[in-house]
Amino acid sequence: MQKCEECGKYSLRNEKAKCPYCGGTQLNAIPPKFSLIDKYQKYRLIYFKEEFDKKFNKS
Ligand SMILES: [Zn+2]
Repeated sequence: MQKCEECGKYSLRNEKAKCPYCGGTQLNAIPPKFSLIDKYQKYRLIYFKEEFDKKFNKS
């Protein structure tokens, strides 16, 4: 997925790396690192673990 530097529209990557709408430069819309997603996944795992413990480890 590419984002246009000029108009900000998303489009599929093409050979010339040019925006099909305005001809602007396409930028990679997805950052190379997924650190933000990883962080949320970690929190989600912790959340599910806590929920799991509540349901099955009633003591
Ligand atoms: Zn554009």
